[in-house]
Amino acid sequence: MPVMPAAPHVLVVDDDETGRRGLEELLRADGFATSSAPDGEAALVEVRRAMPAVALTDLHMPGIHGTELCRRLHQIDPDLPVIVMTAFSDMEAVVETLRVGAEDYLIKPLHYDAVVWCVNRAVARRTAKREQEALYRTLNERLVLSSIREQELAEAEARQRAQLNALLENLQEGVVIADPSGRVLMVNRAARGILEVGDEGLPTTAALNGVETHDLQGQPLPIEQRPLSRALRGEHFADYELLRTRPDGERRRLVSTGTNVREDSGKAALAIVVFRDVTELRRLERQRDEYMALLSHDLRNPLASILVLVSTLKQLVTKKGLTQDAELAERAERNVKRMNAMIGELTEATSLESHGVELRREARDLRELVAGVVNRMDDPRRRRITFDTDGEPPCVVLADTSRLERVVENLLTNALKYSAEDAPVKVQLARKGSAVELEVSDRGIGIAPENVKMLFDRYYRTSAGMARASGLGLGLYIARLVVEAHGGRIDVSSEVGRGSTFRLVMPLHTASG
Ligand code: ADP
Repeated sequence: MPVMPAAPHVLVVDDDETGRRGLEELLRADGFATSSAPDGEAALVEVRRAMPAVALTDLHMPGIHGTELCRRLHQIDPDLPVIVMTAFSDMEAVVETLRVGAEDYLIKPLHYDAVVWCVNRAVARRTAKREQEALYRTLNERLVLSSIREQELAEAEARQRAQLNALLENLQEGVVIADPSGRVLMVNRAARGILEVGDEGLPTTAALNGVETHDLQGQPLPIEQRPLSRALRGEHFADYELLRTRPDGERRRLVSTGTNVREDSGKAALAIVVFRDVTELRRLERQRDEYMALLSHDLRNPLASILVLVSTLKQLVTKKGLTQDAELAERAERNVKRMNAMIGELTEATSLESHGVELRREARDLRELVAGVVNRMDDPRRRRITFDTDGEPPCVVLADTSRLERVVENLLTNALKYSAEDAPVKVQLARKGSAVELEVSDRGIGIAPENVKMLFDRYYRTSAGMARASGLGLGLYIARLVVEAHGGRIDVSSEVGRGSTFRLVMPLHTASG
C-alpha cells in the first residue's frame, strides 16, 4: 500500500475563541490537521510540541504581539511559514511582520477559500524548500566525498610512485626509461654508475649512446644496434651482451634487457632498458673454465694411469689368491672410476655452458644404443636391470651417440643407486607417434613433488638422495641440456618410497620410416 503523506498540520493562534474554533473546524473538514492557541505564549508551547507545517496568527492579542510572535516562532523553527491575519486598517503592522519573516497575510474578515489557498501555497513552498535543501545537502556531501576520494587517490598514487622510485633507485641493475620520442625520463643510480653519467639532471639519448661500443666479436656497434635504440624501436630482447669503452679506455662488458610498455591502443608509451655490468662475472667464469680445463687435462691423465695400475694390482693379488687384498684393490679401483666420472661430469657441464651443446649426430636405433649401454656398464648392480625390446620396431633417432649414451647411463646408475640392493630396474622403449619414449623405472626412494621441478637444475640434489649416495647433482642437468639440444625432453613421475620413472622423449628420425 502506498504511504499517504501525513495531513499538513496548521496551528491557529487567535484570542477570539469563536473565530479560532470556526477556522479550525473548516480546515479540518478540508483534510488538515489542526491545533490552536489563544495567545503567543501558548502558541510557542504548541509549536515546540506539534511542529506544525504552517502557523496562522492574529496580530493583536494580549501578551505577545503577532509581529514579536513571528520572530520568536522562527527561533524555534526557522522554516515555519507564518501567515498573519489582521484588519485592513492595520497594514503598517502587516508590513512590519513581513519584514521580520512572515510568509503571507490575510485580511479579516477571512474568505475561507483565500485561507486554504494561502495555507496550501505555504505548505508547497515549505516542502519545495526542504526538498531543495536535501538535494543541496546530498550534492554537497557527494562533492566532499569525491574530493576526499580524489585526494586519497592522489596520495596513494604519490606513495606508489615514491615506492617505485625508491625501488628503482636501489636496484643493483641499471634502469633507463625513455619515451617514444627518445626523451630520457629516468636513470637510476646504478645506471648512472654503469653508464658513467653524472648525478645532475637527465642525460639525452645521444649522450647515453655516444660512447664507443662494440659487439662481443669486437666489431663497432652502430647506434641503431645499441640497447636503447632497439627498445625505442619497440623491440623486446634479453641477455644482449656488448662491450662499452670507458673514457679511460677500459672495456666493460654489459648485458642488457629491453622491453617497452604500450598504451591500451597498442601505441608504444615507454621504452625500458635494464643493464648489468658482468665484466667481473665473465672474468670469474673464464677462470672457472680454465680451472675446469686444468682439471680435465691435468687430473684425468694421472687418474687414468692410477686406474691402470690399480686394475693390474687387483689382477695380481687375485691371481695370488690374496682375497682380502683383492677386495681392497677392487674398492680403490671403484673409487678411482667414480672420481673419473665426477670429473667427466664437471667438465662436460662446464663445456656445455660455455660453448653450448654442439652435437655430432647420426641415425641410431635407440634399442641398440640402450642395450649397448646396459651391456657395457661396469657395475655389478647392472644385473638388476631388465630391458626387453622383443617385438618393438626400430626406434631410430638422430643422436650424438656418446652424449646420449652418457645420459642413458646416468639414468640407469641413478635408478640403481637410489634404490635397494635387490630392487629391479626396468627399461622400456616404445614408439609413440612421431616420437620415441624411453622409460627408466625403479622401485627406490622416490622424489617428493616439491623437489621435482628443481631436479634438472645445476648441482641440485634432494636431501634423501644425499643421505643415500654421493654425487654432484650434475647428471640430470647435463641430461636435460643434451636431450633438449636433440629436440627432445626429459621428465619424471615419482612417489616417495615407491620409486621413480624418468622419461626421455626424442623425435623419431622420419627417414627411418
Ligand atoms: P647425482 O650425481 O647427485 O646423482 P643427478 O643430477 O643425476 O646427480 O641427480 C640429482 C638428484 O636427483 C640426486 O642427487 C637425487 O637426489 C635425485 N635423483 C636422481 N635420480 C633419482 C632416482 N632414480 N630416485 C630418486 N632420486 C633421484
